[in-house]
Amino acid sequence: MTFAQLGLSSEILHAVNDEGYVNPTPIQAQVIPSILAGKDVMASAQTGTGKTAGFTLPLLYRLQAYANTSVSPARHPVRALIMAPTRELAMQIDESVRKYGKYLALRTAVVFGGINIEPQIAALQAGVEILVATPGRLLDLVEQKAVNFSKTEILVLDEADRMLDMGFLPDIKRVMALLPPQRQSLMFSATFSGEIRKLADSLLKQPVRIEAAVQNTVNESISHVIHWVKPDSKFALLLHLIRQQNLKQALIFVKTKHGASHLAQMLSRHEISAVAIHGDRNQQQRTQALAEFKHGDVQILVATDVAARGIDIEKLSHVINYELPGNPEDYVHRIGRTGRAGSKGKAISLVSEHEKELLANIEKLLNAKLETEQIAGFDAEQFARSLPDRKNRMSAGNSRYGNKPMENGSEKSRSEKHRKLPSSQKYSGSRRGGTQKYSDPIFTQPYVPQANSTQSTTPKQPEIQSLFLTYRQEKRTIPALFTALSKSKAGQEN
Ligand code: AMP
Repeated sequence: MTFAQLGLSSEILHAVNDEGYVNPTPIQAQVIPSILAGKDVMASAQTGTGKTAGFTLPLLYRLQAYANTSVSPARHPVRALIMAPTRELAMQIDESVRKYGKYLALRTAVVFGGINIEPQIAALQAGVEILVATPGRLLDLVEQKAVNFSKTEILVLDEADRMLDMGFLPDIKRVMALLPPQRQSLMFSATFSGEIRKLADSLLKQPVRIEAAVQNTVNESISHVIHWVKPDSKFALLLHLIRQQNLKQALIFVKTKHGASHLAQMLSRHEISAVAIHGDRNQQQRTQALAEFKHGDVQILVATDVAARGIDIEKLSHVINYELPGNPEDYVHRIGRTGRAGSKGKAISLVSEHEKELLANIEKLLNAKLETEQIAGFDAEQFARSLPDRKNRMSAGNSRYGNKPMENGSEKSRSEKHRKLPSSQKYSGSRRGGTQKYSDPIFTQPYVPQANSTQSTTPKQPEIQSLFLTYRQEKRTIPALFTALSKSKAGQEN
Protein backbone atom coordinates (compact mmCIF):
# COMPACT_ATOMS: atom_id res chain seq x y z
CA MET A 1 0.00 0.00 0.00
CA THR A 2 1.29 3.45 -0.93
CA PHE A 3 0.03 6.90 0.05
CA ALA A 4 -0.92 7.51 -3.59
CA GLN A 5 -3.24 4.50 -3.49
CA LEU A 6 -5.16 6.08 -0.63
CA GLY A 7 -6.54 8.75 -2.96
CA LEU A 8 -4.90 11.82 -1.41
CA SER A 9 -4.25 14.93 -3.52
CA SER A 10 -0.93 15.67 -5.21
CA GLU A 11 -0.27 18.60 -2.82
CA ILE A 12 -0.65 16.33 0.19
CA LEU A 13 1.36 13.52 -1.39
CA HIS A 14 4.10 16.01 -2.15
CA ALA A 15 4.27 17.06 1.52
CA VAL A 16 4.23 13.43 2.70
CA ASN A 17 7.04 12.70 0.30
CA ASP A 18 9.02 15.63 1.72
CA GLU A 19 8.76 13.96 5.14
CA GLY A 20 10.33 10.84 3.68
CA TYR A 21 7.38 8.58 4.44
CA VAL A 22 7.33 5.66 2.05
CA ASN A 23 4.29 3.68 3.14
CA PRO A 24 1.33 4.44 5.37
CA THR A 25 1.55 2.96 8.86
CA PRO A 26 -1.14 0.34 9.67
CA ILE A 27 -3.37 2.87 11.46
CA GLN A 28 -3.03 5.29 8.55
CA ALA A 29 -3.92 2.62 6.01
CA GLN A 30 -7.04 1.87 8.04
CA VAL A 31 -8.31 5.30 9.02
CA ILE A 32 -7.53 7.40 5.96
CA PRO A 33 -10.07 5.73 3.60
CA SER A 34 -12.86 5.97 6.20
CA ILE A 35 -12.17 9.63 6.93
CA LEU A 36 -11.97 10.42 3.21
CA ALA A 37 -15.38 8.74 2.84
CA GLY A 38 -16.78 11.19 5.39
CA LYS A 39 -17.43 8.60 8.07
CA ASP A 40 -17.16 9.04 11.81
CA VAL A 41 -14.25 7.07 13.21
CA MET A 42 -13.39 5.67 16.60
CA ALA A 43 -9.78 4.57 16.47
CA SER A 44 -7.66 2.98 19.08
CA ALA A 45 -4.09 4.12 18.59
CA GLN A 46 -1.43 5.48 20.83
CA THR A 47 1.27 7.99 20.00
CA GLY A 48 4.04 6.53 17.89
CA THR A 49 1.69 4.74 15.49
CA GLY A 50 1.47 7.64 13.04
CA LYS A 51 -2.07 8.50 14.12
CA THR A 52 -1.56 12.26 13.74
CA ALA A 53 -0.94 11.96 10.01
CA GLY A 54 -3.73 9.36 10.02
CA PHE A 55 -6.32 12.03 10.74
CA THR A 56 -4.48 15.14 9.46
CA LEU A 57 -3.92 13.97 5.88
CA PRO A 58 -7.57 13.13 5.09
CA LEU A 59 -8.74 16.18 7.05
CA LEU A 60 -6.58 18.39 4.83
CA TYR A 61 -7.93 16.62 1.78
CA ARG A 62 -11.51 17.24 2.83
CA LEU A 63 -10.81 20.92 3.47
CA GLN A 64 -8.75 21.44 0.35
CA ALA A 65 -11.77 22.77 -1.54
CA TYR A 66 -11.83 25.72 0.88
CA ALA A 67 -8.19 26.68 0.33
CA ASN A 68 -7.96 30.34 -0.56
CA THR A 69 -5.60 33.26 -0.17
CA SER A 70 -8.20 35.94 0.54
CA VAL A 71 -7.28 38.31 3.36
CA SER A 72 -10.91 38.53 4.44
CA PRO A 73 -11.48 36.72 7.77
CA ALA A 74 -14.96 35.76 6.53
CA ARG A 75 -13.28 33.52 3.93
CA HIS A 76 -11.50 31.58 6.67
CA PRO A 77 -14.06 30.22 9.13
CA VAL A 78 -13.10 27.37 11.46
CA ARG A 79 -13.80 24.25 9.38
CA ALA A 80 -12.05 21.73 11.60
CA LEU A 81 -11.49 21.65 15.34
CA ILE A 82 -8.83 19.32 16.75
CA MET A 83 -8.86 18.97 20.53
CA ALA A 84 -5.92 17.59 22.49
CA PRO A 85 -5.34 17.21 26.23
CA THR A 86 -1.95 18.90 26.54
CA ARG A 87 -0.17 21.82 25.05
CA GLU A 88 2.72 19.65 23.83
CA LEU A 89 0.35 17.45 21.92
CA ALA A 90 -1.58 20.45 20.59
CA MET A 91 1.67 22.00 19.38
CA GLN A 92 2.75 18.77 17.76
CA ILE A 93 -0.54 18.39 15.95
CA ASP A 94 -0.30 22.00 14.79
CA GLU A 95 3.20 21.31 13.52
CA SER A 96 1.95 18.25 11.65
CA VAL A 97 -0.92 20.19 10.08
CA ARG A 98 1.58 22.79 8.88
CA LYS A 99 3.98 20.16 7.53
CA TYR A 100 1.38 18.12 5.69
CA GLY A 101 -0.56 21.20 4.56
CA LYS A 102 2.35 23.30 3.43
CA TYR A 103 1.27 23.20 -0.24
CA LEU A 104 -2.30 24.16 0.58
CA ALA A 105 -3.59 27.67 1.30
CA LEU A 106 -5.35 26.63 4.48
CA ARG A 107 -4.72 28.45 7.72
CA THR A 108 -4.07 26.77 11.01
CA ALA A 109 -3.69 28.03 14.57
CA VAL A 110 -3.00 26.41 17.91
CA VAL A 111 -4.41 27.68 21.21
CA PHE A 112 -3.60 26.50 24.73
CA GLY A 113 -3.43 27.93 28.21
CA GLY A 114 -0.53 29.28 30.22
CA ILE A 115 0.37 32.02 27.77
CA ASN A 116 -1.09 35.34 26.66
CA ILE A 117 -4.53 34.93 25.12
CA GLU A 118 -4.43 38.13 23.03
CA PRO A 119 -2.34 36.81 20.09
CA GLN A 120 -4.66 33.80 19.99
CA ILE A 121 -7.69 36.07 19.79
CA ALA A 122 -6.01 38.05 17.01
CA ALA A 123 -5.27 34.85 15.08
CA LEU A 124 -8.85 33.69 15.36
CA GLN A 125 -10.19 37.06 14.35
CA ALA A 126 -8.01 36.96 11.24
CA GLY A 127 -9.61 33.60 10.41
CA VAL A 128 -8.32 30.01 10.44
CA GLU A 129 -9.67 26.88 8.81
CA ILE A 130 -8.03 24.45 11.22
CA LEU A 131 -7.97 25.13 14.94
CA VAL A 132 -5.96 22.95 17.32
CA ALA A 133 -6.88 23.55 20.94
CA THR A 134 -6.71 22.33 24.51
CA PRO A 135 -10.19 22.38 26.07
CA GLY A 136 -9.74 24.97 28.83
CA ARG A 137 -8.27 27.71 26.68
CA LEU A 138 -10.76 26.97 23.92
CA LEU A 139 -13.61 27.67 26.34
CA ASP A 140 -11.91 30.88 27.49
CA LEU A 141 -11.86 31.95 23.84
CA VAL A 142 -15.50 30.95 23.43
CA GLU A 143 -16.39 33.07 26.47
CA GLN A 144 -14.58 35.99 24.91
CA LYS A 145 -16.55 35.40 21.71
CA ALA A 146 -13.30 35.03 19.79
CA VAL A 147 -14.31 31.82 18.03
CA ASN A 148 -17.30 30.77 16.00
CA PHE A 149 -18.07 27.18 15.07
CA SER A 150 -21.04 27.72 12.75
CA LYS A 151 -19.04 26.44 9.75
CA THR A 152 -17.22 23.64 11.54
CA GLU A 153 -17.49 20.35 9.67
CA ILE A 154 -14.88 18.13 11.31
CA LEU A 155 -14.11 17.48 14.95
CA VAL A 156 -11.13 15.45 16.10
CA LEU A 157 -10.66 14.38 19.71
CA ASP A 158 -7.10 13.18 20.12
CA GLU A 159 -5.97 11.17 23.16
CA ALA A 160 -9.55 11.10 24.38
CA ASP A 161 -8.62 8.82 27.29
CA ARG A 162 -6.10 11.39 28.52
CA MET A 163 -8.70 14.11 28.25
CA LEU A 164 -11.02 12.16 30.51
CA ASP A 165 -8.16 11.30 32.91
CA MET A 166 -7.40 14.99 33.16
CA GLY A 167 -11.02 15.85 33.96
CA PHE A 168 -11.88 17.53 30.66
CA LEU A 169 -15.21 15.73 30.13
CA PRO A 170 -17.40 18.71 31.16
CA ASP A 171 -15.33 21.01 28.91
CA ILE A 172 -15.61 18.59 25.99
CA LYS A 173 -19.38 18.43 26.45
CA ARG A 174 -19.62 22.21 26.49
CA VAL A 175 -17.64 22.44 23.25
CA MET A 176 -19.76 19.69 21.64
CA ALA A 177 -22.88 21.71 22.33
CA LEU A 178 -21.44 24.60 20.32
CA LEU A 179 -20.68 22.58 17.18
CA PRO A 180 -23.11 22.06 14.31
CA PRO A 181 -24.78 18.62 14.65
CA GLN A 182 -24.03 17.89 10.98
CA ARG A 183 -20.35 17.16 11.18
CA GLN A 184 -17.78 14.43 10.89
CA SER A 185 -16.36 13.37 14.26
CA LEU A 186 -13.18 11.40 14.82
CA MET A 187 -12.03 10.07 18.13
CA PHE A 188 -8.57 8.68 18.90
CA SER A 189 -7.73 7.02 22.17
CA ALA A 190 -5.00 4.68 23.39
CA THR A 191 -7.47 2.83 25.61
CA PHE A 192 -11.19 2.21 25.44
CA SER A 193 -12.69 2.17 28.89
CA GLY A 194 -16.43 2.20 29.55
CA GLU A 195 -16.24 5.97 30.00
CA ILE A 196 -14.58 6.46 26.62
CA ARG A 197 -17.18 4.27 24.95
CA LYS A 198 -19.92 6.34 26.55
CA LEU A 199 -18.34 9.50 25.23
CA ALA A 200 -18.01 7.90 21.79
CA ASP A 201 -21.70 6.94 21.83
CA SER A 202 -22.71 10.52 22.54
CA LEU A 203 -20.31 11.97 20.01
CA LEU A 204 -20.07 9.68 17.01
CA LYS A 205 -22.67 8.60 14.49
CA GLN A 206 -22.35 4.98 13.35
CA PRO A 207 -18.60 5.15 13.67
CA VAL A 208 -16.18 2.91 11.86
CA ARG A 209 -14.22 1.21 14.64
CA ILE A 210 -10.55 0.83 13.94
CA GLU A 211 -7.98 -0.84 16.10
CA ALA A 212 -4.31 -0.42 15.32
CA ALA A 213 -2.52 -3.77 15.34
CA VAL A 214 -0.58 -2.87 18.46
CA GLN A 215 -2.55 -0.94 20.98
CA ASN A 216 -2.43 -0.13 24.64
CA THR A 217 0.68 -2.17 24.73
CA VAL A 218 4.28 -1.79 23.92
CA ASN A 219 5.51 -1.63 20.41
CA GLU A 220 7.48 -4.66 19.26
CA SER A 221 10.36 -2.52 18.09
CA ILE A 222 11.01 -1.59 21.73
CA SER A 223 13.10 -3.91 23.86
CA HIS A 224 12.76 -3.82 27.62
CA VAL A 225 15.11 -4.50 30.44
CA ILE A 226 14.71 -4.41 34.19
CA HIS A 227 17.76 -3.79 36.36
CA TRP A 228 17.10 -4.68 39.96
CA VAL A 229 18.98 -2.28 42.16
CA LYS A 230 18.99 -1.08 45.72
CA PRO A 231 17.48 2.39 46.03
CA ASP A 232 20.71 3.93 47.23
CA SER A 233 22.58 2.53 44.21
CA LYS A 234 20.16 3.78 41.59
CA PHE A 235 22.01 6.95 40.77
CA ALA A 236 25.35 5.17 40.49
CA LEU A 237 23.79 2.58 38.22
CA LEU A 238 22.26 5.30 36.08
CA LEU A 239 25.63 6.99 35.66
CA HIS A 240 27.18 3.64 34.83
CA LEU A 241 24.58 2.88 32.17
CA ILE A 242 24.83 6.30 30.56
CA ARG A 243 28.61 6.07 30.40
CA GLN A 244 29.02 2.41 29.61
CA GLN A 245 26.42 2.46 26.85
CA ASN A 246 27.55 5.88 25.70
CA LEU A 247 23.98 7.13 25.63
CA LYS A 248 23.79 10.20 23.46
CA GLN A 249 20.12 10.92 24.03
CA ALA A 250 17.90 9.48 26.73
CA LEU A 251 14.63 10.51 28.29
CA ILE A 252 14.52 9.69 31.99
CA PHE A 253 11.28 9.47 33.92
CA VAL A 254 10.78 10.20 37.59
CA LYS A 255 7.59 10.64 39.54
CA THR A 256 7.94 14.09 41.04
CA LYS A 257 8.87 17.59 39.93
CA HIS A 258 11.39 17.81 42.76
CA GLY A 259 12.93 14.51 41.70
CA ALA A 260 13.19 15.66 38.08
CA SER A 261 15.04 18.87 38.97
CA HIS A 262 17.26 17.15 41.46
CA LEU A 263 18.22 14.32 39.15
CA ALA A 264 19.02 16.72 36.28
CA GLN A 265 21.16 18.74 38.65
CA MET A 266 23.01 15.66 39.92
CA LEU A 267 23.69 14.45 36.38
CA SER A 268 25.00 17.88 35.42
CA ARG A 269 27.35 17.76 38.40
CA HIS A 270 28.71 14.51 36.98
CA GLU A 271 29.32 16.19 33.64
CA ILE A 272 26.36 14.68 31.91
CA SER A 273 24.37 17.48 30.31
CA ALA A 274 20.80 17.25 31.52
CA VAL A 275 17.68 19.38 31.69
CA ALA A 276 14.42 18.84 33.54
CA ILE A 277 10.91 19.38 32.27
CA HIS A 278 8.04 19.57 34.73
CA GLY A 279 5.15 21.71 35.85
CA ASP A 280 7.13 24.07 38.09
CA ARG A 281 9.13 25.33 35.18
CA ASN A 282 7.61 28.15 33.19
CA GLN A 283 6.59 27.84 29.59
CA GLN A 284 9.80 29.34 28.26
CA GLN A 285 12.00 27.06 30.35
CA ARG A 286 10.05 24.01 29.26
CA THR A 287 10.13 24.99 25.61
CA GLN A 288 13.83 25.65 25.86
CA ALA A 289 14.60 22.39 27.66
CA LEU A 290 12.70 20.37 25.09
CA ALA A 291 14.28 22.21 22.17
CA GLU A 292 17.78 21.66 23.56
CA PHE A 293 17.12 17.99 24.00
CA LYS A 294 15.56 17.58 20.58
CA HIS A 295 18.45 19.35 18.91
CA GLY A 296 20.90 17.07 20.69
CA ASP A 297 22.44 19.96 22.64
CA VAL A 298 21.82 18.14 25.91
CA GLN A 299 22.14 14.44 26.45
CA ILE A 300 19.45 13.80 29.02
CA LEU A 301 15.92 15.08 29.51
CA VAL A 302 14.48 14.27 32.91
CA ALA A 303 10.70 14.43 32.91
CA THR A 304 7.61 13.75 34.94
CA ASP A 305 4.76 11.82 33.35
CA VAL A 306 2.43 14.71 32.70
CA ALA A 307 5.13 17.07 31.44
CA ALA A 308 6.37 14.49 28.96
CA ARG A 309 2.98 13.48 27.62
CA GLY A 310 2.80 13.62 23.88
CA ILE A 311 6.45 14.56 23.42
CA ASP A 312 7.58 13.39 20.02
CA ILE A 313 11.33 13.14 19.62
CA GLU A 314 12.42 11.67 16.38
CA LYS A 315 14.54 8.55 16.74
CA LEU A 316 14.80 8.70 20.53
CA SER A 317 16.74 5.55 21.30
CA HIS A 318 16.40 5.20 25.09
CA VAL A 319 13.76 5.77 27.71
CA ILE A 320 14.88 5.15 31.28
CA ASN A 321 12.47 4.68 34.14
CA TYR A 322 14.45 5.89 37.11
CA GLU A 323 11.30 5.25 39.10
CA LEU A 324 8.42 3.13 37.90
CA PRO A 325 5.15 4.99 37.47
CA GLY A 326 2.31 4.46 39.95
CA ASN A 327 -0.12 4.00 37.08
CA PRO A 328 0.89 1.02 34.91
CA GLU A 329 -0.58 2.65 31.80
CA ASP A 330 1.96 5.42 32.20
CA TYR A 331 4.68 2.83 31.57
CA VAL A 332 3.20 2.31 28.10
CA HIS A 333 2.98 6.06 27.53
CA ARG A 334 6.53 6.61 28.76
CA ILE A 335 8.15 4.01 26.60
CA GLY A 336 6.01 5.06 23.64
CA ARG A 337 8.42 8.00 23.34
CA THR A 338 10.93 5.57 21.82
CA GLY A 339 10.60 3.00 19.03
CA ARG A 340 8.40 5.37 17.06
CA ALA A 341 7.19 4.62 13.57
CA GLY A 342 9.27 1.48 13.27
CA SER A 343 12.64 2.66 14.62
CA LYS A 344 14.30 0.62 17.37
CA GLY A 345 14.11 1.69 20.98
CA LYS A 346 15.17 0.51 24.41
CA ALA A 347 13.23 0.91 27.63
CA ILE A 348 15.40 0.54 30.72
CA SER A 349 13.85 0.40 34.19
CA LEU A 350 15.79 0.70 37.42
CA VAL A 351 13.64 -1.17 39.90
CA SER A 352 13.97 -1.48 43.65
CA GLU A 353 12.17 -3.78 45.99
CA HIS A 354 9.62 -1.19 47.03
CA GLU A 355 8.55 -1.02 43.36
CA LYS A 356 7.98 -4.76 43.04
CA GLU A 357 4.23 -4.39 43.08
CA LEU A 358 4.32 -1.61 40.49
CA LEU A 359 6.33 -3.85 38.18
CA ALA A 360 3.87 -6.68 38.72
CA ASN A 361 1.02 -4.35 37.73
CA ILE A 362 2.88 -3.25 34.59
CA GLU A 363 3.56 -6.84 33.57
CA LYS A 364 -0.07 -7.68 34.19
CA LEU A 365 -1.22 -4.81 31.99
CA LEU A 366 1.21 -5.79 29.23
CA ASN A 367 0.46 -9.45 29.64
CA ALA A 368 4.17 -10.11 29.46
CA LYS A 369 7.14 -10.70 31.70
CA LEU A 370 9.88 -8.16 31.22
CA GLU A 371 13.43 -9.38 30.90
CA THR A 372 15.85 -8.70 33.74
CA GLU A 373 19.57 -8.16 33.52
CA GLN A 374 22.10 -7.89 36.29
CA ILE A 375 24.83 -5.31 35.94
CA ALA A 376 28.17 -6.36 37.38
CA GLY A 377 29.13 -4.21 40.32
CA PHE A 378 25.55 -3.32 41.15
CA ASP A 379 24.87 -6.43 43.00
CA ALA A 380 21.23 -6.43 43.57
CA GLU A 381 21.23 -9.98 42.26
CA GLN A 382 21.13 -11.48 45.68
CA PHE A 383 18.32 -9.17 46.54
CA ALA A 384 16.44 -9.95 43.34
CA ARG A 385 16.83 -13.69 43.88
CA SER A 386 15.21 -13.23 47.21
CA LEU A 387 12.05 -12.09 45.41
CA PRO A 388 10.20 -15.38 45.02
CA ASP A 389 8.18 -14.52 41.92
CA ARG A 390 11.13 -13.31 39.86
CA LYS A 391 14.03 -15.54 40.77
CA ASN A 392 13.78 -17.68 37.66
CA ARG A 393 13.85 -14.72 35.40
CA MET A 394 17.24 -13.31 36.24
CA SER A 395 19.63 -13.37 33.34
CA ALA A 396 22.95 -12.50 34.88
CA GLY A 397 25.69 -12.05 32.32
CA ASN A 398 23.29 -11.62 29.45
CA SER A 399 24.42 -8.52 27.69
CA ARG A 400 21.48 -8.28 25.33
CA TYR A 401 18.35 -6.41 26.12
CA GLY A 402 14.81 -7.68 26.15
CA ASN A 403 15.15 -10.59 23.81
CA LYS A 404 12.05 -12.28 25.09
CA PRO A 405 9.11 -11.52 22.84
CA MET A 406 6.16 -9.73 24.31
CA GLU A 407 2.85 -11.47 24.07
CA ASN A 408 0.23 -9.53 22.23
CA GLY A 409 -3.26 -9.51 23.63
CA SER A 410 -6.28 -7.52 22.63
CA GLU A 411 -6.69 -4.04 24.03
CA LYS A 412 -10.01 -5.11 25.42
CA SER A 413 -8.70 -8.01 27.40
CA ARG A 414 -5.81 -5.99 28.73
CA SER A 415 -7.84 -3.02 29.79
CA GLU A 416 -10.45 -5.26 31.34
CA LYS A 417 -7.79 -7.10 33.27
CA HIS A 418 -6.43 -3.78 34.35
CA ARG A 419 -9.83 -2.62 35.51
CA LYS A 420 -10.20 -5.78 37.55
CA LEU A 421 -7.13 -5.02 39.61
CA PRO A 422 -8.09 -4.36 43.22
CA SER A 423 -7.75 -0.71 44.08
CA SER A 424 -4.97 -1.48 46.51
CA GLN A 425 -2.83 -2.64 43.57
CA LYS A 426 -3.99 -0.08 41.07
CA TYR A 427 -2.07 3.18 40.88
CA SER A 428 -0.26 2.37 44.09
CA GLY A 429 2.47 4.79 45.00
CA SER A 430 6.05 3.73 45.36
CA ARG A 431 5.92 3.59 49.09
CA ARG A 432 3.00 1.22 49.23
CA GLY A 433 4.55 -1.72 47.50
CA GLY A 434 7.20 -2.90 49.91
CA THR A 435 8.54 -2.84 53.36
CA GLN A 436 11.97 -1.41 52.60
CA LYS A 437 12.29 2.30 53.25
CA TYR A 438 12.97 4.24 50.05
CA SER A 439 16.34 5.85 50.56
CA ASP A 440 17.55 7.09 47.21
CA PRO A 441 19.73 10.05 48.15
CA ILE A 442 18.74 11.80 44.93
CA PHE A 443 15.34 12.40 46.43
CA THR A 444 16.25 12.64 50.10
CA GLN A 445 19.07 15.17 49.86
CA PRO A 446 17.87 18.78 49.82
CA TYR A 447 17.45 20.16 46.35
CA VAL A 448 18.76 23.63 45.62
CA PRO A 449 16.96 25.06 42.60
CA GLN A 450 19.08 26.92 40.09
CA ALA A 451 17.22 30.07 39.22
CA ASN A 452 16.32 30.25 35.54
CA SER A 453 18.82 27.60 34.67
CA THR A 454 18.37 24.67 32.41
CA GLN A 455 21.72 23.31 33.50
CA SER A 456 23.11 23.45 30.07
CA THR A 457 25.40 25.80 28.27
CA THR A 458 23.55 25.94 24.98
CA PRO A 459 22.27 29.25 23.66
CA LYS A 460 18.70 30.13 24.61
CA GLN A 461 15.94 29.32 22.14
CA PRO A 462 13.55 32.12 21.25
CA GLU A 463 10.37 32.46 23.30
CA ILE A 464 7.04 31.34 22.00
CA GLN A 465 5.73 34.20 19.98
CA SER A 466 3.30 35.20 17.28
CA LEU A 467 4.52 34.49 13.82
CA PHE A 468 3.30 35.20 10.37
CA LEU A 469 2.86 32.16 8.25
CA THR A 470 3.40 32.27 4.53
CA TYR A 471 2.26 29.66 2.09
CA ARG A 472 4.51 28.64 -0.71
CA GLN A 473 2.13 29.60 -3.48
CA GLU A 474 1.80 33.17 -2.41
CA LYS A 475 4.34 35.88 -1.95
CA ARG A 476 2.24 37.90 0.48
CA THR A 477 2.16 37.17 4.22
CA ILE A 478 -1.05 36.04 5.80
CA PRO A 479 -1.56 38.08 8.91
CA ALA A 480 -1.68 37.16 12.54
CA LEU A 481 -1.53 33.42 12.71
CA PHE A 482 -0.60 32.40 16.17
CA THR A 483 1.86 29.61 16.38
CA ALA A 484 4.92 28.50 18.22
CA LEU A 485 8.27 28.20 16.58
CA SER A 486 8.22 24.81 14.98
CA LYS A 487 11.14 23.48 16.96
CA SER A 488 9.85 24.78 20.26
CA LYS A 489 7.63 22.58 22.30
CA ALA A 490 6.68 22.77 25.86
CA GLY A 491 4.98 20.87 28.61
CA GLN A 492 1.65 21.03 30.33
CA GLU A 493 1.21 21.50 34.03
CA ASN A 494 1.78 18.60 36.32
P1 AMP B 1 2.35 9.97 15.90
O1 AMP B 1 1.88 8.59 16.30
O2 AMP B 1 1.33 10.67 15.09
O3 AMP B 1 2.80 10.75 17.10
O4 AMP B 1 3.61 9.80 14.93
C1 AMP B 1 4.81 9.23 15.35
C2 AMP B 1 5.96 9.55 14.41
O5 AMP B 1 5.82 8.80 13.21
C3 AMP B 1 6.07 11.00 13.99
O6 AMP B 1 7.40 11.41 14.24
C4 AMP B 1 5.78 11.01 12.50
O7 AMP B 1 6.56 11.96 11.84
C5 AMP B 1 6.16 9.61 12.08
N1 AMP B 1 5.34 9.08 10.96
C6 AMP B 1 4.02 9.27 10.73
N2 AMP B 1 3.61 8.60 9.65
C7 AMP B 1 4.68 7.96 9.15
C8 AMP B 1 4.90 7.10 8.03
N3 AMP B 1 3.91 6.74 7.23
N4 AMP B 1 6.14 6.61 7.83
C9 AMP B 1 7.16 6.96 8.68
N5 AMP B 1 7.03 7.77 9.75
C10 AMP B 1 5.80 8.26 9.99
